[in-house]
Amino acid sequence: MSFVQERTCCPQCGNQAEFEADCWGSQRTTCLICGYYEQESLKFDAEGNCCGSRRDIGKGFGVLGYRYIDDNFFWNHFLKTPGESHDAERWLRSALRSGAVDVDTAYVTRWSDELNQVEVLVGDP
Ligand SMILES: [Zn+2]
Repeated sequence: MSFVQERTCCPQCGNQAEFEADCWGSQRTTCLICGYYEQESLKFDAEGNCCGSRRDIGKGFGVLGYRYIDDNFFWNHFLKTPGESHDAERWLRSALRSGAVDVDTAYVTRWSDELNQVEVLVGDP
């Protein structure tokens, strides 16, 4: 399967976002800074003919990103409400205090509607 992956500009916050497209016409943009999400996929009828596309857009409310100190895998949680960023911030600060997560990879962001930009609550995304 052919697959395209490149960097693009996030339509919400203007930072670098990940763009992915596959050979079936699906494409996806995800921003690890503000949490913006966009997915477009083709729709097919019962005979398998393409009959348009469907687009889902998710506003970014912020992202919690970190790596556990004993793991190589990066976790990114897309926050679903403005309030979740405060829970994420609290959780991450206590995880950093206990030494469970790698300080260089840990961050929490929050989207601010008032400022129309992303705010960094913890770390450096
Ligand atoms: Zn963004």
